[in-house]
Amino acid sequence: MDRYQLKPGSKVRLSEWDPKDHAAFSGDKTAGLEELQSLDQRLAELQSILYAQQKHKLLVILQAMDTAGKDGVIKRVFNSVNPQGVGVTSFKAPTPLELAHDYLWRAHAQVPCKGEIGIFNRSYYEDVLVVRVHQLVPEKVWHRRYGHIRDFERMLVDEGTTILKIYLHIDQDEQKKRLQERLDTPSKRWKFNPDDLSERKLWKQYMEAYEEALTETSTDYAPWHILPSNREWYRNLMAARLIVEALDSLKLAYPEPPPGVEKVVIE
Ligand code: AMP
Ligand code: MG
Repeated sequence: MDRYQLKPGSKVRLSEWDPKDHAAFSGDKTAGLEELQSLDQRLAELQSILYAQQKHKLLVILQAMDTAGKDGVIKRVFNSVNPQGVGVTSFKAPTPLELAHDYLWRAHAQVPCKGEIGIFNRSYYEDVLVVRVHQLVPEKVWHRRYGHIRDFERMLVDEGTTILKIYLHIDQDEQKKRLQERLDTPSKRWKFNPDDLSERKLWKQYMEAYEEALTETSTDYAPWHILPSNREWYRNLMAARLIVEALDSLKLAYPEPPPGVEKVVIE
């Protein structure tokens, strides 16, 4: 899975990352879905131990352009976990109360506690992405946020959080197909947001903003992963592998039972 990890210090050019790549899996879609099913079981086991042990915290950050599959990954990859112990936060345009605070405030309040997996569907990265593209604050203000974000994540990691950052990479043609599908499929039409069309026109500006954000904030303690996402099944498989890998690296173990438990007799 190293091939999708962005080496800290290297400058990203997203045009050099193929959103159709599928080199980390040699089989076809059917075989991919089979592996994904076995990862479901593994993820369920690991999460159950994470929850029991109450020691580690995992924060999964998902960023992407509209339709790339943030919601899809959450729905499919996490479908086997116990909802108790997993929290999803979707970051929308800030409320007046949120705007009255610093931009990290609302995110900090939602980071996972011991034993939990926290999933961010968008995040404080929006504060150097949409905020930059729409010039919601001056450049001087968003530019210094890279440093804040690196320091904030450093603090979370020092205090025991594992951070897994995933950018779902699609191209503009694939987005067009998916937006059209939203229009054409009655059960998907609710997701169609006319604003997505105006955002789509800003594709180039978004790519520049992503390139700089990924470059500036891929660190050895919280590196970015750029997942090719034009193929849904491959995207889900790679995301599942990354999450299972992250949990595996924690060397999780069930806590010791209370002393003397083997001698207990229940009458
Ligand atoms: P969705 O994820 O499709 O539900 O859309 C959420 C919307 O909220 C997107 O258009 C984001 O760009 C927007 N959003 C999220 N965070 C911020 C932020 N900090 N400032 C402005 N807009 C934001
Ligand atoms: Mg949307």
